[in-house]
Amino acid sequence: MPLADLQAAESKLLMQTYARNPIEFVSGNGVYLRDDQGNDYLDLLSGIGVCALGYNHPVITNALAKQAESLIHTSNLFYNANTTELALRLTEMTGLDRVFFCNSGTEAWEAALKLARAHAGLLRAEGKHIGTRFIALENSFHGRTMGSVATTHKAAYREPFQPVMPDVVHIPFNDVAALKAAFSEEVCGVCIEVLQGEGGINPVSEEFLRTARELCDSTGALLLLDEIQSGMGRTGKWCAYQHYDIQPDITTLAKPLAGGVPMGAMLATEEASRAFTPGMHGTTFGGNPLATGVAIAVIDEIKHAKLLDHAAEIGNYFIAQLNSLKGKHESIAEVRGMGLMLGVEMHSADVAKSVLDGMFAKHIVLNRTHETVLRFLPPFLITREHVDQTIAALDELFTQQEVKSTDAALTATN
Ligand SMILES: *Cc1c(COP(=O)(O)O)cnc(C)c1O
Repeated sequence: MPLADLQAAESKLLMQTYARNPIEFVSGNGVYLRDDQGNDYLDLLSGIGVCALGYNHPVITNALAKQAESLIHTSNLFYNANTTELALRLTEMTGLDRVFFCNSGTEAWEAALKLARAHAGLLRAEGKHIGTRFIALENSFHGRTMGSVATTHKAAYREPFQPVMPDVVHIPFNDVAALKAAFSEEVCGVCIEVLQGEGGINPVSEEFLRTARELCDSTGALLLLDEIQSGMGRTGKWCAYQHYDIQPDITTLAKPLAGGVPMGAMLATEEASRAFTPGMHGTTFGGNPLATGVAIAVIDEIKHAKLLDHAAEIGNYFIAQLNSLKGKHESIAEVRGMGLMLGVEMHSADVAKSVLDGMFAKHIVLNRTHETVLRFLPPFLITREHVDQTIAALDELFTQQEVKSTDAALTATN
């Protein structure tokens, strides 16, 4: 079906929840995506941080084929070795004790919220005074289900669905005084994305994270760190919190976990995990042999190909090159991020949009978040050559934009 027909049919058939780019990708290989016209695009987005091993990776296609031939699904009524083997890897990677598997990011976060509420209930039953409130941060994104969206900050995502889960307060990002002021025995959990994704690639400060840890320790409240976008090695460590040397009580993983097969995981300490007992929480699909089999293959390949070191090294190179662009172009306000999770904040949303469109025209895929931030979430496999190609393309587009705005200024003064 030609793209125009596809667009016309979709506009009638699908819920109108997405504003798509006018491109149809039909295949992919390595760090490249191919559109229906046969054009190859350098992919710096990896399906919003999902396809960490790029496309058509033999490790993933083999794991999928092998698992499809034996078992895809049996349900959580039965044992499966993949589930246990993956849990072993994830607990080693995160330093946490137990795992709950599910099928998406929001389900992982929803499970985290439920565990924190249940844990507070357990503490109350044991005679402790602890409430049901969550502290979350401005510009946070934790997903779209009723609990997750209650902790998500953006009003447009949350307000049309009121009443969402009650008892959440949002405080300004990295504001230690506001955190201390909002914290009390009423709080059962503090919710933090270590490196905010949708909110514009904002790293949490060491002081803020440490204060959150100390406040939680003072009452038995839980520190919930959402690593759905930043986890699984994207920042050069398995979890972004490992850059800070601070352990959470609960963390969540999803996007790249099974290389593109939908999967999420919620991990917690032994202390927090004791709040879940049989029947309290569950899922039909979660942790099925197919998804867990692929996730094991993804993790083993990240280790085997030393992709944590690679993500750190290429990420450092990428940040340095972006910063040198910032030195040249006044339209760039700031460069932020860690490893291969990077953002370039522009002064103007219009310029950010034009640059994004220009990149698509040059067959380079990225996206824009929080209106003014160009976001890079490339597959872990990108090389210096890909970074150089990207920087050259951005350099050209920023220059064009600046010439345009100078022309506009001159026209205005003449
Ligand atoms: C994407 C994302 C989610 C939600 O994941 P879904 O799979 O879309 O439900 C939650 N938290 C963070 C930090 C995310 O980036």
